[in-house]
Amino acid sequence: MRLSRYFLPILKETPKEAEIVSHRLMLRAGMIRQQSAGIYAWLPLGHRVLNKIQRIVEEEQNRSGAVQLLMPTIQPADLWRESGRYDAYGKEMLRIEDRHEREMLFGPTNEEMITDIFRSYVRSYKDLPLNLYHIQWKFRDEVRPRFGVMRGREFLMKDAYSFDLDKERSTEAYHRMFVAYLRTFARMGLTAIPMKADTGPIGGDLSHEFIVLASTGESEVFLDKDILGLPIPGEDTDFDGDLSGIIEQWTTPYAATDEMHDEAAFGAVAEDKKVSARGIEVGHIFHFGTKYSEPMGAKVMTAEGKEVPVQMGSYGIGVSRLLGAIIEACHDDDGIIWPKEVAPFHVGLINMKAGSECDEVCESVYAELEKAGVEVLYDDRKTSAGQKFASMDLIGLPYQLVVGPRGLKTGEVEVKDRATGDREMLTPEAAVNKLI
Ligand code: ATP
Ligand code: MG
Ligand code: MG
Ligand code: MG
Repeated sequence: MRLSRYFLPILKETPKEAEIVSHRLMLRAGMIRQQSAGIYAWLPLGHRVLNKIQRIVEEEQNRSGAVQLLMPTIQPADLWRESGRYDAYGKEMLRIEDRHEREMLFGPTNEEMITDIFRSYVRSYKDLPLNLYHIQWKFRDEVRPRFGVMRGREFLMKDAYSFDLDKERSTEAYHRMFVAYLRTFARMGLTAIPMKADTGPIGGDLSHEFIVLASTGESEVFLDKDILGLPIPGEDTDFDGDLSGIIEQWTTPYAATDEMHDEAAFGAVAEDKKVSARGIEVGHIFHFGTKYSEPMGAKVMTAEGKEVPVQMGSYGIGVSRLLGAIIEACHDDDGIIWPKEVAPFHVGLINMKAGSECDEVCESVYAELEKAGVEVLYDDRKTSAGQKFASMDLIGLPYQLVVGPRGLKTGEVEVKDRATGDREMLTPEAAVNKLI
């Protein structure tokens, strides 16, 4: 992509309304623009990252056996009356009336709708297990939308719903999502810690929030340092096999949010391993049994010919919130430092003097990198080199390839690693080979 033809509205001033670094950097780097409180337009650079995050989420959901579909954003109120949540949900729900005076709502979540889809088609234990997910915009009229995409009103969520015959199999479904989440966040360069979370009136121990530690996080958390060093399950994990060993390993060290915090249990953790910190909730998994299937009549036939309400769980990931969480974890004074898997482009090619002998070298490395499938943002504009460097650092692409008149005298270009700051002078061919 040539920057001269792109749309990257970088802000020079630091926006005053942004209280935290990720929000400031997303606005300055031209990734998002607020259209109304907590409602954002995704500008091209932000949209690219959102798509990369979404892709990773999809790959890991699919790997674990979940099946993707897409439900609408607008839902009929009647479904929510069946579950009893229409009144209970309160002001966070955006309620809408259509021209026929039918009550509708902009979905804050989809338990009711997926239960309705399930009950319309599935009748037998033979069709289980089933896990259906979608990635769709949600609306919650948050009292205090803030921190940019971190707490928006309109936000993108991945939500999966599992259906099983009994508690034991539902627990296995829960384990599959638990492991998929460990892999998902690690691939984005994040350390997201599963922490025991509140199950409310349903009880039991099957609810975890995945939390990224950050001083700007809204949750207060307590953990045993040991959990930070645990291995992430590999790509070859057998999701049809027994995952309880992995779950055991990850749920043994103490880790809880303030609602579930147990001073006595935390007291047993060695003093030098105790961490109390703040964190961002990027995911939440929850087994809730028959909470929706019972009132909504989603029943399946057992092998013995008995009808039972299906056991369910739901599993959310804050896809748009993740951009904020990643930037909170990956930045320096100059800007964002994207982990490679989610970077909007892999390489920023800087032409230090457009209209000079630099053009030819830039054009040729640009063509070769593109041909090799490397995503390049080529700054071909006639602006100052200093401005180009600052913009590239701000938008945080993993590598910068700098072509300048001085280097070219000895036939060399510079490759800079954004994360480490390491610089290397190479021939254009060697630079291309390094970046492929
Ligand atoms: P929070 O405690 O932050 O309000 P929640 O517990 O209400 O979140 P869930 O219902 O568990 O959220 O939704 C699943 C995921 O969706 C959350 O883990 C979070 O990552 C994301 N999410 C929830 N609310 C928002 C929001 N207002 N803006 C962006 N992402 C959100
Ligand atoms: Mg909430
Ligand atoms: Mg929460
Ligand atoms: Mg939650």
